Amino acid sequence: MSHTHVIGGGLAGLSAALALTEAGRAVTLYEASPACGGRCRSYFDQTLGCRIDNGNHLLLSGNHTAMAYLERLGTRQTLGGPASPVFPFMDLARGTRWVLRPSLGRIPIWLLRKARRVPGTSPLDYLALLRLGQARPTDTVANNLPDNALFRRFVAPLCIAALNTHPIKGSARLLGAVIDETLARGGAACIPLFPRHGLSESFIDPAVARLRDAGATVRTGAAITALPRDAGRVTSLIGSQGPIPLGPTDSVVLAVPPWSAAEMLPELTVPDEYQAILNLHFRIDADPGEAGFWGLVNATAEWVFVKPGVVSVTISAANRLVDRRAEDLAATVWPEVRRLLNLPPTLPPWRVVKEKRATFAATPAQNTRRPAAETPWQNLALAGDWTATGLPATIEGAIRSGLTAARVLGVAA
Ligand SMILES: Cc1cc2nc3c(=O)[nH]c(=O)nc-3n(C[C@H](O)[C@H](O)[C@H](O)COP(=O)(O)OP(=O)(O)OC[C@H]3O[C@@H](n4cnc5c(N)ncnc54)[C@H](O)[C@@H]3O)c2cc1C
Repeated sequence: MSHTHVIGGGLAGLSAALALTEAGRAVTLYEASPACGGRCRSYFDQTLGCRIDNGNHLLLSGNHTAMAYLERLGTRQTLGGPASPVFPFMDLARGTRWVLRPSLGRIPIWLLRKARRVPGTSPLDYLALLRLGQARPTDTVANNLPDNALFRRFVAPLCIAALNTHPIKGSARLLGAVIDETLARGGAACIPLFPRHGLSESFIDPAVARLRDAGATVRTGAAITALPRDAGRVTSLIGSQGPIPLGPTDSVVLAVPPWSAAEMLPELTVPDEYQAILNLHFRIDADPGEAGFWGLVNATAEWVFVKPGVVSVTISAANRLVDRRAEDLAATVWPEVRRLLNLPPTLPPWRVVKEKRATFAATPAQNTRRPAAETPWQNLALAGDWTATGLPATIEGAIRSGLTAARVLGVAA
């Protein structure tokens, strides 16, 4: 039987491995770290004395590939969130609060209700968002939209969260792709969702268990360091325990981050500019409110998630902050959080998690450096949120890329 070797146990690798295994292929997955999950993982934090995610991850109900992945694993119900599309915000400089409430249907009747829109905006302002997907490949978000209240209070926070890139630099096309698959399809496609227990519990551990049950081999702590090639094919994998020869019908999915892929395949053009994401976790109980999270405007903190016993803050596009001391970051962000949530002034136990290369910078220039899943080597396909998915680096893009890689290797995924 032909064997497919999947290198990388993040969402892209797991998605490819599941599709290949379900199609009857023999699969071995190699993950360099002690556990699968990559940039989407949960772990026990000694300082806080509880399990946390490496970073808050928000999905929208319109992320249909991610939803199908969870349905297949039987873990769709492990995502929680509000029952309807609600996005509460606070402007910390002005002290004002509002809730964006799209209506469920495709026709945006909610735009006619002032109380459901972003304050200071008119229904017509929102039409410009629908044109972002048709922007020129070189356009940024900021040079495609007027600098108005909608831009400052909604588009900028959305762009920084979805692209991990500031709108002055972020690709209009990539933000347009997100909007086309969510907001443009009506409120039913933009209900916010996040894991109730943890990222690993929803996305990772059940996938590894499913693979093992189906007969696939999942090897953790197993880095692959080189891919020798000859006559248009990968001929073996070089692992820490020596070479793993490939048979004539064997194939490979390379699902590692771009910098690892470029080390193994120096001929490949890959994104080479990254943006950090910071997460600050505070060990304290708070009222989750209607949605379980808030967006902040005019603050250092950008998104605040209230989970059982922990309040977690996300700051994206954070290269400007990533080298600041953790103590300074906690001291800057805690007063904002306590104002938002009406909490006491004393700083509770905290932890700062810095993901320095959280995603590639989703600029027009970096977007052109994303390779397709097909490669010049006939038995090798690429996967990862950084490949040419047409989406920014997200869970949806990563899972979709794994399915595309499986299709390139002949599996109907
Ligand atoms: C802090 C943070 C917040 C985020 N928030 C969101 C969000 O709110 N919503 C959203 O949709 N997305 C979010 N994302 C993005 C999302 O996590 C990623 O897009 C997704 O997890 C990427 O999956 P991947 O499989 O492409 O890559 P990775 O997760 O990086 O997986 C690659 C795997 O390959 C392994 N590997 C590397 N080198 C080797 C080697 N030589 N041999 C074997 N294995 C190797 C790595 O250890 C890793 O496990 C966030 C990311 C971060 C970091």
